[in-house]
Amino acid sequence: MVCLAKYIVVTGGVVSSIGKGITAASIGRILRSYGLELTAIKIDPYLNWDSGTLNPYQHGEVFVTQDGMETDLDLGHYERFLDVNLSGEGNITTGKVYQSVISKEREGSYLGSCVQIIPHITDEIKQMVRKIARESQADVVLVEVGGTVGDIEGQPFLEALRQLRNEEGHDNVMFVHVTYVPYLRAAGEFKTKPTQHSTKELRGTGINPDMIICRSELPIDYALKKKIAHFCDVEQNAVINCPDVSSIYEVPLVMDRENVGKYVINRIKLDVAEDSHDLTEWRKIVKSLKKEDPVLKVGIVGKYVELEDSYMSIRESLRHAAAHVGAKVKIEWISAEDSLNTQQLDELDSILIPGGFGERGISGKLDAVRYSIENNVPVFGICLGMQCMVIEFARMHGFEGANSTEFDQDSSNPVIDMMEEQKKIKHMGGTMRLGAYDCKLKSGTLAHQAYQEELVQERHRHRFELNNEFRSQLEDKGLIISGTSPDDFLVEIVELDDHPWFLGCQFHPEFKSRPNRAHPIFVSFMQATMDNKDK
Ligand code: GLN
Repeated sequence: MVCLAKYIVVTGGVVSSIGKGITAASIGRILRSYGLELTAIKIDPYLNWDSGTLNPYQHGEVFVTQDGMETDLDLGHYERFLDVNLSGEGNITTGKVYQSVISKEREGSYLGSCVQIIPHITDEIKQMVRKIARESQADVVLVEVGGTVGDIEGQPFLEALRQLRNEEGHDNVMFVHVTYVPYLRAAGEFKTKPTQHSTKELRGTGINPDMIICRSELPIDYALKKKIAHFCDVEQNAVINCPDVSSIYEVPLVMDRENVGKYVINRIKLDVAEDSHDLTEWRKIVKSLKKEDPVLKVGIVGKYVELEDSYMSIRESLRHAAAHVGAKVKIEWISAEDSLNTQQLDELDSILIPGGFGERGISGKLDAVRYSIENNVPVFGICLGMQCMVIEFARMHGFEGANSTEFDQDSSNPVIDMMEEQKKIKHMGGTMRLGAYDCKLKSGTLAHQAYQEELVQERHRHRFELNNEFRSQLEDKGLIISGTSPDDFLVEIVELDDHPWFLGCQFHPEFKSRPNRAHPIFVSFMQATMDNKDK
């Protein structure tokens, strides 16, 4: 079936980590400013079924969608730049494609045929891509192919997308190749050869890029763009330069100056006037995000602090909220694995304890909770961070050896325990409590003041919860339960009221913050951080 959506396929070359996701999301932001509806697909050619079982050190944060899929962090960029909730099915992996083809083969769907990469795997990929296009009803579907052109795992995907262009028509599918143009200090010049080679590699798959986006450390000049256009066989106005900028949110503005929108609209014949877009709101957001003072110092006490990408959505949420309260956030990354240096903590305006798995780093997180309670420093715990708040609060109030059964199966006071429905589950992948669930708020609490709503919906990713057997005892000691599941069964938010700002939530609010709509809890936390700084 021919779909009405237009497709923009984004590939990458030369090196990884050049911001292909941000570049693709920025094209999306520009097209959104024309009033177009967009959705995004991220293809990850690895064999894992989803990102849930990947180590954050290797792959950065696991982003959780509203519908409960554990996905690549690029989906987070797309949600933040496009301001849409994406379907988790939009993260296509080799694992998902092969699993689906193999189960069809077992069902007998291909009876009589030899099942092959072409056509069976490529057909499956096209079907998955078209399903997202159809269900989203978007005008434009961004399809980012992870990895770099030439990777063995990526080949079936490139072949499928090449076929997609033939089937949907040249006017409905375009290819954007993102490359890196290095500057050789010794030679005193930029080098286009890596871009030429990776474009040649891409053309070897039968795909001619329509646009080349050149990432570079510094701006490149017109002559260089002309050379790239000539050697890579693209139009001159389709060679776009995207030099490094201080904030990722500036990228759509940089690309807009290069008239990316105009080229795309004409190339895939989008039904909008080429000068009918308006990035005023985005420009305002970028300006507020670039505010230099006052600087609020927030310490993130976590396990994966060497790789900031592990806490990507938290970092972005803090930035959005700081901009919302008219400040700039400076994050101090504090390893929970080393013993905490209180002098370092004394310099902070607030502390955030993020989520995580396993015992490593727990004692540092518990120390940080105790420090915040004893020193009246605002503290925000997310998921495992909230569980640590409950454990330390319990220990401070006489529950000896209080712990989570995740770390101590024999704890005499298991204040955090595995959820009942989790106890029977044996498989690790995709089996946690995942995705959006309702949370009912108690009036008069910090949470209620922040949201100004009775019922909210937040995304989850956990197996453990506050143990209901301890709930009333902890409440007697002063723990406030300000958010629960609508049936009151699961504790969602805890607070303390003899403290300037102490809030822990079992869910992950960071997945819902957008630059234009900072998350209410993060805003409340940044306001408390500002108040603490002013003290
Ligand atoms: N390990 C904890 C649990 O599974 C917390 C998970 C998290 O922080 N995402 O409940």
